[in-house]
Amino acid sequence: MQDTETRDPQPSGTANPAVTPPLAPPFPSLVIAEDGFAAQGAFAEAQAMYLQPDTAAVARLDALLETHAIGVVAHFYMDAELQGVLSSAKSPHIHIADSLMMADRAVAMAEAGARTIVVLGVDFMSENVRATLDAAGHRDVAVYRVASKPIGCSLAESAEAPAYAAYLKRASRSPRALHVIYVNTSLQIKARAQALVPTLTCTSSNVVPMVLQAFAQVPELQIFFGPDTYMGQNLTAMLRALSALDADSITRLHPEHTPASLAQALPRFHHFQQGVCIVHHMFGDRVVERVRRDYADAFITAHLEVPGEMFGLGFEAQRQGRGVVGSTSNILRFITDTIAAKINQKDGERPRFILGTESGMVTSVARAVQQILREHGGSGLEAEIVFPVASEAIARTDDASLPIVPGVAGGEGCTTAGGCATCPYMKMNSLDALFDLLERIDAAGQAATDTLAAYRPKDYSERIDGKSVAELGAVSILHMREFQKTGRLPAALVEDIINRGA
Ligand code: SF4
Repeated sequence: MQDTETRDPQPSGTANPAVTPPLAPPFPSLVIAEDGFAAQGAFAEAQAMYLQPDTAAVARLDALLETHAIGVVAHFYMDAELQGVLSSAKSPHIHIADSLMMADRAVAMAEAGARTIVVLGVDFMSENVRATLDAAGHRDVAVYRVASKPIGCSLAESAEAPAYAAYLKRASRSPRALHVIYVNTSLQIKARAQALVPTLTCTSSNVVPMVLQAFAQVPELQIFFGPDTYMGQNLTAMLRALSALDADSITRLHPEHTPASLAQALPRFHHFQQGVCIVHHMFGDRVVERVRRDYADAFITAHLEVPGEMFGLGFEAQRQGRGVVGSTSNILRFITDTIAAKINQKDGERPRFILGTESGMVTSVARAVQQILREHGGSGLEAEIVFPVASEAIARTDDASLPIVPGVAGGEGCTTAGGCATCPYMKMNSLDALFDLLERIDAAGQAATDTLAAYRPKDYSERIDGKSVAELGAVSILHMREFQKTGRLPAALVEDIINRGA
């Protein structure tokens, strides 16, 4: 990453004194106005600075992508510097999204002529992009990551532990078992799981309708969800809360469900107990306590992966129309919809949003909010994004043998070095690493193959039940894609559930 001290753009917080500074809350925050940003705290200042990226870097990126017909798909959790440049580039082949949409956009880019796709994310994302491109008939399109070393994920790794294999074994002994696996897992785990139990991949944006539909479509179904423990607990809490609603409200959610059907489904929903995302783990009870105390007026956004306390806060807010619990895309949509509604109602009071997910998300939020404010020029409305920070945050170090240490790096508990709700794995993707890779890819994406082999998504040699990992691992992803299209579990999957458990 470039040294922030030597870059051209000035921190937006000081560059635009016209923007009203935030109040003095305990968490860092960023105020977004039509024509600028104001930040409180070092971390928020860095985020604001990168929203006005180095124009030379943007031009260099556009030129490299165009010359070599390269597309870039990036996750919302990329660091602020990288996202600032990506979101300012003009290339039509750049997309920042959640993991499901990343793969879809890669296919669209291939169909529009991209010969190479660079994935900015963690390894299961590049594997997912590779599998989806292959399934769509684009085996000739090269896929690269920006690091030669593995880019892990604490959650994906928890599915590789013996405890998860034991969990799957238990599922395989259950009649009518469906393993719903979170997309944040390797292709190899998806393949091994599929060999044992009928498996369906989910994301945080589709898991709720998927679980409701599965229980409605397959009588006596047993769902084994994993590996994310917090998400499993949150889904259980959500099912319990939904089952307490009146019949009409439940029918509006899913026409085939009733309070009784949801109550009966509850004991048939199981979740793995030992899968943790180290980032979302930070949104614990102390963060929630401070949010409740100091931000009673704020809108609450929470990712489905957060611990129960934060989930409870978000779910409560969602039911009161003051928040959302869901995926990164759901969070983005909630914030922009809320701003649009305020503009339409000519409500000039600045809304505050608690960002209950990885802080890299703020770049996409800031861009989208500013776009709405500009479309309705002159409204004078501002929005404040608050970064809740836990004192037990994790910091990144420069020591290769010990890249992550517990605790914050300094300041107010949230710093550009990673001592905030930032994912240290995602931050292995840097602007320098991206440029380094792009310089080495030729127009066909094939030359220099020998030197770029380590940058390709992992190619598993293991064969399971006579099939390759790529082939078997893609089955649950393709089932999910069919669910996305039709809203129903595919017939082949339902048949598998019934036959295997017989
Ligand atoms: S935020 Fe990082 S550790 Fe958590 S699930 Fe995503 S990639 Fe994995």
